Amino acid sequence: MPIRQLSETMVNQIAAGEVIERPASVVKELVENALDAGASRIEVVTAGGGLALIRVSDDGAGIPVGELELAIARHCTSKLSDDIHDIRSLGFRGEALPSIGSVSRLTVRSRTASADSGAEIRVEGGRLTPVRPAGANRGTLVEVRDLFFATPARLKFMKGERAEATAAADVVKRIAIAFPAVRFTLSGTDRSTLDLLAVGDTADARLERIAQVMGKDFPENAIGIDATREGVHLGGYVSVPSFTRANALQQYAYVNGRPVRDKLITSAIRGAFADVLPRDRHAVTALFLTLDPGHVDVNVHPAKADVRFRDPGLVRGLIVGAIRQALAEAGIRPATTGAA
Ligand code: ADP
Ligand code: MG
Repeated sequence: MPIRQLSETMVNQIAAGEVIERPASVVKELVENALDAGASRIEVVTAGGGLALIRVSDDGAGIPVGELELAIARHCTSKLSDDIHDIRSLGFRGEALPSIGSVSRLTVRSRTASADSGAEIRVEGGRLTPVRPAGANRGTLVEVRDLFFATPARLKFMKGERAEATAAADVVKRIAIAFPAVRFTLSGTDRSTLDLLAVGDTADARLERIAQVMGKDFPENAIGIDATREGVHLGGYVSVPSFTRANALQQYAYVNGRPVRDKLITSAIRGAFADVLPRDRHAVTALFLTLDPGHVDVNVHPAKADVRFRDPGLVRGLIVGAIRQALAEAGIRPATTGAA
């Protein structure tokens, strides 16, 4: 067979295989886009665990009519400066919308502040319907129906509506903790619902948002972390050993404001608690690392959940040391240490 170039739709579906694993991935990408657009209010609606419907609407900057087609084109982004090491937005790959459009029925409807009317574009399994006028409030509404209808093999891997809805809700919670000045709502026919009122962006607001997400008993059972080592700062909260979970799902971690699920951080938390918790119990945490963007690479994984630190030993040492010290200062010591 002669060498040929893959079709645009095929290329996008391959990318979707990496970026869009499940409904929660769509929610993550769309909410990140809304935040990048400066939204102060983000509404998420899901049905059928997100497989039937995901709708994310925001009151952000909107997309100019003339750019709607580019928004759903591969590798087109309004966010990337010329330096991959200096990424300030949550998105930067220009991959999410074309990937989603290649595996679902996608509608993007938007209006900028300066436009007097809105417009929308649709893609169904990679097939484009040209831009047409549509009534829209200022901001953007992205609707994703029948996720993975175009890739039945992927659809088979879904865990069931309940599990997918829970994962989608967790994505909203995880992101919401990093953006207390934004109001987030989650509703629809799936059982998980949320209404997180905007609380501002002070340190107090952050704790208030954490309480909105994790419940009021978390702050009552948590100790504060505040430590710096060689320019790397760690702030946030960890629960006391009497307030634990059977899994690590409620370990929220952020690097320069970006939600991450990173092995190094998870393992450092485990290490810090090793002496005071049984192996099958997990602390609840909300930890925020702040460091020079040049010392951390967020461009490791398409879903951007992993990060790579230039000095992993320093970060690990900081997390373990800061948590252990905070536990000790709170008078929490290993139970096995006999009274001396
Ligand atoms: P990326 O976020 O990496 O740029 P996406 O495929 O997620 O790539 O989005 C492509 C482009 O579409 C964005 O760069 C942005 O210009 C525009 N866009 C997407 N969603 C929104 C939104 N909610 N509000 C404003 N612009 C958006
Ligand atoms: Mg994006």
